[in-house]
Amino acid sequence: MATHAHSTEIPSTSTTDEPESALETARRQLHRVASILELDPNIVERLNHPTSVHEVTVPIKRDDGTVDVFTGYRAQHDSVRGPYKGGLRYHPDVTRDECVGLGMWMTWKCAVMDLPFGGAKGGVAVDPKALSDSEKERLTRRFAQELRTVIGPLTDIPAPDMGTDPQTMAWLMDAYSMQEGETIPGVVTGKPPVIGGSEGREEAPGRSVAIITKAACEYYKQPLSETTVAVQGYGSVGANAARLLDQWGATVVAISDVNGAMYDPTGIDTHAVPSHDEQPEAVTEHASTVISNDELLTLDVDVLIPAALGNVITEATAPAIDAQLVVEGANGPTSPAADRLLADRDIPVIPDILANAGGVTVSYFEWLQDINRRAWSLERVNDELETEMLAAWEAVRAEFDARDVTWRDAAYIVALSRIADAHDVRGLWP
Ligand code: NAD
Repeated sequence: MATHAHSTEIPSTSTTDEPESALETARRQLHRVASILELDPNIVERLNHPTSVHEVTVPIKRDDGTVDVFTGYRAQHDSVRGPYKGGLRYHPDVTRDECVGLGMWMTWKCAVMDLPFGGAKGGVAVDPKALSDSEKERLTRRFAQELRTVIGPLTDIPAPDMGTDPQTMAWLMDAYSMQEGETIPGVVTGKPPVIGGSEGREEAPGRSVAIITKAACEYYKQPLSETTVAVQGYGSVGANAARLLDQWGATVVAISDVNGAMYDPTGIDTHAVPSHDEQPEAVTEHASTVISNDELLTLDVDVLIPAALGNVITEATAPAIDAQLVVEGANGPTSPAADRLLADRDIPVIPDILANAGGVTVSYFEWLQDINRRAWSLERVNDELETEMLAAWEAVRAEFDARDVTWRDAAYIVALSRIADAHDVRGLWP
């Protein structure tokens, strides 16, 4: 596989391998790319802050009649390119700063895909496993009411995230619609198809990982039929990516779940192994050879796809990575220190912000379908997803080829240039 020069002189604010907060990561990427592009410092300063952060109190009646009060947030980062877009999570660790950081990250992600959206993120600090279904429904409806004046199909469009799912989005859409006096499906994406959700939404992040892996292999003149792939995580992202690459001729030699990895150098029949959705944590039950997740990361393969957790390729594990190419399926699987080590070793890393952006892209298609009251076929969704992914790939590839930067920097350069140009021409009101 051909290699590419990489940049070592651009400053990074992170010098240790401590996991960064989402806000630190988003700001580090902003400042890093601002220095490469020599962006107007006035625009950078605006992007360094969210437009608004809504903090709300969400009281609910528990099934036993007592009342509990939770705190919810919606951080809206930037809307220069269109309405805010981003997930709502239910998790005990949800904080204001986390929402701001993840909201900034959504701004970059929508821009690299050239979607007409800005970034937002929100959630409720609650353990969803400690709620019954009816408590979760009451929490969601009350949260929708508290956010009602700041969300909407033309202002801010939430989606599912950790701890929330299509049913949560259905309750949110129903609560919003009841208060507005009309059915407004476009207020959220990731809904069940029967109320305006899109075909292909669930598989989209894994599908985009496969499309980008294929494009990257073509770029490095690596025929898929001669490509070996290891995938960590066999859930929505990992299983869909592995199965498509298998279908397109690659040899998937390792897949894994939380219990360990299945390894077969002659190739795994990916359709014969149930994904996390089909039968949770069943990968190793189907394996004749089991290796650990750490061993999977260090296999001598052409492509490594971490698609389970964040921060698995670290300063400690990066020196042992033996893949020719890493494609990030999970969010943030590579630490900043590991990123530098892999760059030094000329191992290209295709970043999450591009590779797994199929989810938000099909959310955009869902929003278009809702606004037009016209559903698309699965075939149309998949065709248009491929078109959007390849257009984004082309834009990032052009920056990668034109500048002495990593794939990650190239993706952020595409995103930040679009956002900064939009700020520049719109100006600062008043
Ligand atoms: P999922 O819950 O469907 O599957 C997760 C998989 O990872 C399971 O197979 C699980 O067994 C495995 N796993 C859990 N802990 C592990 C460990 N310690 N070691 C190895 N494997 C482990 O999750 P998903 O939706 O596929 O998400 C995976 C990653 O992709 C996350 O980082 C998520 O944020 C990111 N992502 C998801 C989407 C989406 O819409 N689903 C979109 C973009 C990014």
